[in-house]
Amino acid sequence: MKNIVRIFLALFFSSLSLFAAEGKPNIIIVLADDLGYGDLGCYGHPSIRTPHLDRMAAEGLRFTDFYAPSEVCTPSRAAMLTGRYAIRSGMSTGGQRVLFPDSKGGLPAGEVTIAEALKTRGYSTAHVGKWHLGVVEGSRPNEQGFDESFGLPYSNDMDGRSKVPAGSPNPPVDGWNVPLMRNGKIIERPAVQSTLTQRYTDEAIAFAHAHKAEPFFIYLAHTMPHVPLFASAEFRGKSMRGLYGDVVEELDANVGRLLAALRDEGLAEKTMVIFASDNGPWLLTKAMGGNGQGGSAGLLREGKGSTWEGGMRVPGIAWWPGRIKPGVTSEMANAMDLFATSLALAGAEMPKDRPMDGVDISPLLFEGKALPERPFFYYRGDMLMACRLGPWKAHFWTQAGYGQEHPDSHNPPLLIHLPSDPSEKFDVAAEHPEVLEKIQAAVAAHTAAMVRGTPQLK
Ligand code: MG
Repeated sequence: MKNIVRIFLALFFSSLSLFAAEGKPNIIIVLADDLGYGDLGCYGHPSIRTPHLDRMAAEGLRFTDFYAPSEVCTPSRAAMLTGRYAIRSGMSTGGQRVLFPDSKGGLPAGEVTIAEALKTRGYSTAHVGKWHLGVVEGSRPNEQGFDESFGLPYSNDMDGRSKVPAGSPNPPVDGWNVPLMRNGKIIERPAVQSTLTQRYTDEAIAFAHAHKAEPFFIYLAHTMPHVPLFASAEFRGKSMRGLYGDVVEELDANVGRLLAALRDEGLAEKTMVIFASDNGPWLLTKAMGGNGQGGSAGLLREGKGSTWEGGMRVPGIAWWPGRIKPGVTSEMANAMDLFATSLALAGAEMPKDRPMDGVDISPLLFEGKALPERPFFYYRGDMLMACRLGPWKAHFWTQAGYGQEHPDSHNPPLLIHLPSDPSEKFDVAAEHPEVLEKIQAAVAAHTAAMVRGTPQLK
């Protein structure tokens, strides 16, 4: 009799936990570093072959108008993980634009990350890959809601000890002293960069396997294709696009490996996977001492570091078999929306004590509904450079990502109609004064209410 009660209780509780697990999907964000809008087959690249991401896009929802929240690494990641423009957390400032190994600041402990919010709903959480949100106390992955952390504390071109530029086609393997860390401890230095794409993926797959019975969140932030570029022997010399293509093709194959593992584990129908890039491509032109090893923004103007579209509009793919209907959308979304969307899926409360910038895009993802019109603000450091509202974008300031010392001021602002002019060549402000007025009102409201965080990039 006792045994029967025990079996009954065991069944009862396992069905309860099964129910709980089914109600809360797993969430995986795969973030590429400096991957451009034009670098994938499904975004029109003619010679880089990305069959796995193309398949992910074909099975999921591909965004034509998905934005990184910033034009460089640190503020973009801070904004994505907190659902707030990085200027609010002090992670986007004048002067330094990203964190460096000796920076004294980092993501403030008081910020709420997606991982912290999901933990309140019983999620297991892992950070795998590049962090770049601080090495000082309070800002490190294990202090920002991640149970497990494996990866680099900052960019792979920092800690340089080589005279060969990071954009060289033949970067020396030991040219950078960046450490590979697990849960705050250095396990390898310098990190063997040609193995990172594969080892990050192995880590993510192992975490998913170990936590398949409970909901989990994995933030998989690839180091590639940020320069210096490294591909493993299996991929090196294989693409038509040179080393950059080799690196992107290896990234593609590893996204394929991750999705295949989810299918094999029976997790595909319980897991939403988002693929995006943290900012536009580092163009690495000859004038900048580069050597053709940077990515491409396709027909978008400029690249990383700039608030022209090429700096911030990036590939964005959402995948969840059985839940997200396959298709392509021109709705405007951005990586800050992943915060509100993830919390909604997990049934977690949004923070109420601070302004939030992203919105829950579930109605678009699962029902194909249009999102309400809302402005998107383009910051470069502490300057609000541009604003998009609907199809229109107004530039108040413009600046090339690199090689232009001072920004150009535009008064009256430039007005671009993005759908008909994706390369931002034609200012149509004179023909649409009412549009400009509407955007200026949105900027004025945003600026008036903005409380900037204590600068962290020092
Ligand atoms: Mg980046």
